[in-house]
Amino acid sequence: MNPDPDYSAAYVVIHTDAPDAHEGHGFAFTIGRGNDIQAAAIRALEPFLIGRPVEAILGDLGGIWRELVHDSQLRWLGPEKGVVHMAVSAVVNALWDLKAKRAGLPLWRLLAEMTPEQLVDLVDFRYLTDALTPGEALEILRRAEPGRAERTKHLLSHGYPAYTTSAGWLGYSDEKLTRLASEAVGDGFTLIKLKVGADLDDDLRRLRLAREVVGPDVRIALDANQRWDVGPAIEWMSAFLPYDPWWIEEPTSPDDILGHAAIRAAVAPVKVATGEHVQNRIVFKQLLQAGAIDVMQIDAARVGGVNENVANLLLAAKFGVPVCPHAGGVGLCELVQHLSMFDYVAVSGTMDDRVIEYVDHLHEHFVHPVDVHNGRYAAPQEPGFSAEIHAGTRTRHAYPDGPVWMSGGDAG
Ligand SMILES: [Mg+2]
Repeated sequence: MNPDPDYSAAYVVIHTDAPDAHEGHGFAFTIGRGNDIQAAAIRALEPFLIGRPVEAILGDLGGIWRELVHDSQLRWLGPEKGVVHMAVSAVVNALWDLKAKRAGLPLWRLLAEMTPEQLVDLVDFRYLTDALTPGEALEILRRAEPGRAERTKHLLSHGYPAYTTSAGWLGYSDEKLTRLASEAVGDGFTLIKLKVGADLDDDLRRLRLAREVVGPDVRIALDANQRWDVGPAIEWMSAFLPYDPWWIEEPTSPDDILGHAAIRAAVAPVKVATGEHVQNRIVFKQLLQAGAIDVMQIDAARVGGVNENVANLLLAAKFGVPVCPHAGGVGLCELVQHLSMFDYVAVSGTMDDRVIEYVDHLHEHFVHPVDVHNGRYAAPQEPGFSAEIHAGTRTRHAYPDGPVWMSGGDAG
């Protein structure tokens, strides 16, 4: 559980002296005091980029990913997990934002127009080849190639399905929960999510009320935010079964692969979902190999950026598991929509049972905020990764000497 979040970001801007004056923007989303540590980790990566020719770096983003991740001294702090890996993510995502802006394309489209060979080159297959080889990845991407143009057209006219967490936060009154749940259905959402795990009786009452309001056809997902050990997860879920939950998210520690497998075996047909705190492609690989998850929840800013999420999407396609990204936070909806849309066009080729989380707050701080209506994300058209926060917001909220902090006012 994250009872006391103070939404923050370690924010990266990559400048070049190219005449087009484009900047690459990226960030690591944090929830407060850890942000200073995150910012220091990002600074440790500056020497890898500063002074190098931009064309060489953007022309080989698979190569720069390996350089950043395999630096032996920084790697000691991971490897490939935690603060150093999130720093890589922020920098790599900023480079992708820059590359997409220079190409004049939204990121999803830039990726979806790359050849299968170019996409495979982005991925570090180290530690993956027992589950996914470069040859198999190539096969998955080639299989999807003939339908790309048609799916791009479909995506542009229909968007991509979203689900909402807005109704289900702990601490909302029953009246607020039922009002928001019924509004969500009215807004076109076909899946809503409730937070659970603090108090069983409260959860049962809230779940019953939500089910009464949305009816039998709207899916209700549950999110325990890592509250339980394996035994209690199974006990609590058994009590929820009469209300037909669609998935249970983060029932236990994100590192506990066998625990997830045990919970999944016990709570079927309820699905098990996880991923927002999964550190890297190797943990996702094991969750899939162990039959521990039904739903993979990639996060755009936790693993090593776009490159590693291409690996994760390929793994999910190999195992036939749908990807329903995590986006609770700030800017995560803006980023991760691009990855799902790329997946639809060029990897899995389907939207079946796939939904992107949508949390309706703080989008106004983004230069190109998400456009969610009728329960769907509209495909972004603007060049880039939708990562850029308004300059005014960045100045006002800069820690520790932005005016919001100096005045001691609400950081909002
Ligand atoms: Mg969650």
